[in-house]
Amino acid sequence: MTFLEHEILTYQKLKELSFFTKEEISYIESNFNLERIATTTFYLQLAANSAKSRKSISTNTPKENSSKSSSAENPLRRQFVPSVQELKILDYEKTDPLCDKKFSISDRIIHRYRDRVLFIATGQCALYCRHCFRRYLDKTQVKAPTKAEIKTLTDYLKANKNIREVLISGGDPLVLDNSLLEYLCKSIREVSKNIVIRIGTRVPVVLPSRIDSALVNNLQKYRPLYIFTQFNHSDEVAEQNSEAIDLLVKSGIPVFNQTVLLRGINNLKDQLKELFYKLVSISVKPYYFFQGDIAAGTSHFRTNLMQGIEIMEELKTEMSSLSLPLLAVDLPDGGGKIMLDRNSIVKRENGFYYLKNSEGKVFKYPDENQE
Ligand code: SF4
Repeated sequence: MTFLEHEILTYQKLKELSFFTKEEISYIESNFNLERIATTTFYLQLAANSAKSRKSISTNTPKENSSKSSSAENPLRRQFVPSVQELKILDYEKTDPLCDKKFSISDRIIHRYRDRVLFIATGQCALYCRHCFRRYLDKTQVKAPTKAEIKTLTDYLKANKNIREVLISGGDPLVLDNSLLEYLCKSIREVSKNIVIRIGTRVPVVLPSRIDSALVNNLQKYRPLYIFTQFNHSDEVAEQNSEAIDLLVKSGIPVFNQTVLLRGINNLKDQLKELFYKLVSISVKPYYFFQGDIAAGTSHFRTNLMQGIEIMEELKTEMSSLSLPLLAVDLPDGGGKIMLDRNSIVKRENGFYYLKNSEGKVFKYPDENQE
């Protein structure tokens, strides 16, 4: 058994551990892709610690007890356990909300922005987030890349000199083995010494033991290389995560964070403030704070657009720019990413916000009435 097979808990393993309730097993097995359900032993422990601390908080504040002690409402557990709420698909929700297919050059290459290209390294993740906007991927559909597929990427980079950044994402690239990951980074670096390599990964959050000296020694040879991770809750920042970040940063690999605004998980100003402060204290720069995408079956996670704007307005009066991320939204229908504040809203009408992208085109984002 490999290290990853040992550490990653698939649906079957979780079931054997009696992790799910009978009710969960019943609706999960009849409705969900079991290949896209997994977590790690480490994240399970983080979730258990989160539940304990919540319980002690709620013992001190009896009024909050009923809502916060339930395991179903544990903010970490909710990120990887399917919910029946995912079965509600709204008219405007999409399986491909960022229009990856529209901008695809090949199965693995997506070219949306002039100077950046995305390479899908794998469909596998250590933990599958229930809010993920690439919910159509799993390891059976997109396996590790072949050398021929990596050559397609490097040929594309050679033919498109305006590309300055390659985002390696997926799926989670850090589930690939070290030799393949090194081959991929080395191949990109051989095209140009200036191209920036960005790796999008939740491994520093959910499986920090994967960030060891062998991996870091491999990656640091191909700088400029940046890690973009996704801490969503302050209970995800523990000693082991901090040690993993330390290894990266000491090797000259900067780490940035992209938090997703998730209803019932982190949509409280003080929770986000604690998270962002914790991140800078372990040398992670809070970079983006994303409004939820219009991915099918994720409306229970989305907040109304105004909530993120209002939270950021308050945080701006209380925190330094170092600790504050940029609030952003990926516009539906391939509109691209925009920074979000009150001025981004052209109008609010008939159940939608109208938002302008950098090209001056207007896109609709739902005006949902969440509590
Ligand atoms: S780790 Fe990233 S790609 Fe994988 S499920 Fe989570 S958000 Fe999606």
